[in-house]
Parts: sequence; structure tokens; C-alpha cells
Amino acid sequence: MKHANGHDVIQLFEQFAPKKFAMDGDPVGLQIGRLNGPVKNVLVALDVLEDVVDEAIEKDAQLIIAHHPSVYRPLKNMATDTPQGRLIEKCIRHGIAVYAAHTNLDIAEGGVNDLLAEALGLRDTEVLSPLFEDKLRKLVVFVPVSHEEAVRTALGNAGAGAIGNYSHCSFSARGTGRFLPGEGTNPFLGEAGKLEAADETRVETIYPASIEKQVLASMLEAHPYEEVAYDIYPVVNEGRKFGLGRIGEIEQEMALRDFAEHVKKTLEVPALRVVGNLDEKVKKVAVLGGDGNKYFAEAKKAGADVFVTGDFYYHNAHDALALGLNVVDPGHNVEKVMKKGVAAYMRKACREHQLDVRFIASEVNTDPFQFL
Ligand SMILES: [Zn+2]
Repeated sequence: MKHANGHDVIQLFEQFAPKKFAMDGDPVGLQIGRLNGPVKNVLVALDVLEDVVDEAIEKDAQLIIAHHPSVYRPLKNMATDTPQGRLIEKCIRHGIAVYAAHTNLDIAEGGVNDLLAEALGLRDTEVLSPLFEDKLRKLVVFVPVSHEEAVRTALGNAGAGAIGNYSHCSFSARGTGRFLPGEGTNPFLGEAGKLEAADETRVETIYPASIEKQVLASMLEAHPYEEVAYDIYPVVNEGRKFGLGRIGEIEQEMALRDFAEHVKKTLEVPALRVVGNLDEKVKKVAVLGGDGNKYFAEAKKAGADVFVTGDFYYHNAHDALALGLNVVDPGHNVEKVMKKGVAAYMRKACREHQLDVRFIASEVNTDPFQFL
């Protein structure tokens, strides 16, 4: 096991929740401190409140990975007699870096919304509000027959040819490749200045554009030619969608009243608000962690019987009633599922990369609301 610094940890984290997923203007990334210091313990938190910083100090954490940015609006000053200034000062004085992953963690596969959908037992989940598509591309490469297997394997291992639950998908056809090696070349087949005809295989496969670099690098490494002939085509097949919220079905339909109880129990909240007919049966569920006010019409359009989200407004509740959409609002704080979820993901990632780092899910309850 190797010692790690903040950069090592964040590099792995950003493979999970890339910054490019964040919505415009969302201040994700390093917010306080520095990443080039050693990191032994990381505290994963929903909010960075003073109690959370105290917990980080107590648990000897050098880094806090938080969902909600601690510096959200531009600071007007750094006076340390304000709550925010005091918090920043405390972090810096104790050498604690704060890194925020907000909408990028909502959107990420396995992020906040997937964790909520999983907790609620949703199946066959899809993205509720797609924001990006990882466009598909086709690669055609001409390989000497002796190396076709090696190139196909390299492509598959790099992630090309993944269709549904199948991997390493490709198609091959034999043919003749012709080339005239020029002066100063060192051809794998034939010799400089002599027209060559070689038995070659045309190997074709598809891949999402986001992994193009690794797909091409693996293909070129397994290919024996000095100059590899290959073509990349855009395709119109739908690529994987990334976005906010998830929609899926619970195993057994149940009355809204029972579903609300299920949400209360699984998301561990003392109380929640319900909009709709408590006796109506629900099966198709849309979920959007945090404030999903902007998305309730989309949930209805996607066929949801009930929409689970936080911070739901009074007037939106009237509109949802008029639309015939049930809403369960367990509060914004249910995003706390990210604490254990991110810690578990990062524990595994660091183990795989032989990094000696501990991840601790914060135990501080940061819900500002109490129910009397
Ligand atoms: Zn939130």
C-alpha cells in the first residue's frame, strides 16, 4: 500500500464524478486548502458545517469530500468573525482541505440519485432528465490476419464493443490490404519501395466517445504496423444518457400511504410531506435528490405515479395535484445517502490502486429542520 496525497484521492474520485458533469456555475472542486499534502483519512460529508469540521479534526481527516459546496456565493471578505470566515480559518489552521462534488455527483452513475433509487428499491431505472449523451462512434481497423485476435481483445479490454450486457462485440471480414512502403520506412510486412498485398482483417466495433483515447491507445499498442490504417465514424445510435434524477419501478405496487412509510423508513427521516391521494396505488417512481421543484412536470411526463424530492414549494404542490402527480417530500437532507455511498466507492477504488487511505462517513446530522 502506498501513501496518498489529496491529488491521488481526487483523481480517483473524479473518475466517478467528473467535474465536466457539473451544471453551469456550480462551484465544484477544491474549495478550501490544498491537495498536495499527505492524506490518511477522508471525511465524506453532505454539508460542511462547523460541527463537521470539528469531526474532521477529531478523526484526523486531512480532506473533506462534501456534496454541498461550502463556498457557494462569491465571498465579499474573509473576516474571521463571520460564521463562514471562522469555518474557513478553522479548516486552514488544521490543514484540512475541502473538496465539493455537487451536481456532478447528482448526475454521476452510482451518485446521489442512483443511491436514492437503490435505497428505495427501484428497478430498471433510467435517467429522469437527460443532460448529456455519450455519443457512440464506430472504429474500423485493418489488421494483418496474424494479429486480429490480439487487436480484437485489446479493443474489448479497453471497453469498445459494449452493447447492453455484452462486451467485446465486434465484426471481422477478411480482405486484401495494399500499400507501398516509402523511403525510410520499417514495414512489418514487405519492404520499402515495393508494392505489398497483405491478408488483412477488417475489424469493426463501436465505443462511447468518452473512452476514445483509451480505445485507440490499446488498439495501436496491439497492432503490429508502423502506420495503422483505421477510420472513425459518427453513428446515430443512441449513446448512454447522463442527467438528473432517476425513474424506475418498485417491485410491488402499493398505496401512496404505504409508499410514503417506505420512504420514511428507508431514508431514515422522522417525518415527510405527501401531496396526493393516499389511497392511490403507485408503482412507477421518479426520484431527484435535493431540490427537484423544476422537474415535477418532467416526472409526470415520464409516467411517474409519484415523485420523491426535497424542498417542494406550496404552489408547485398545487400544480402537481392538478396534474394528478403524487409527491413525497422527505426533505433535502436525504442526500445524506451519499456519505456511505461515496465512502464505499472510494474505499474500493483506493484498495484497487493500492492507496492507503481511510474513508469515514460523517456522523453529524446536518438537517437544519426539527419536527415537533
Ligand atoms: Zn442538495
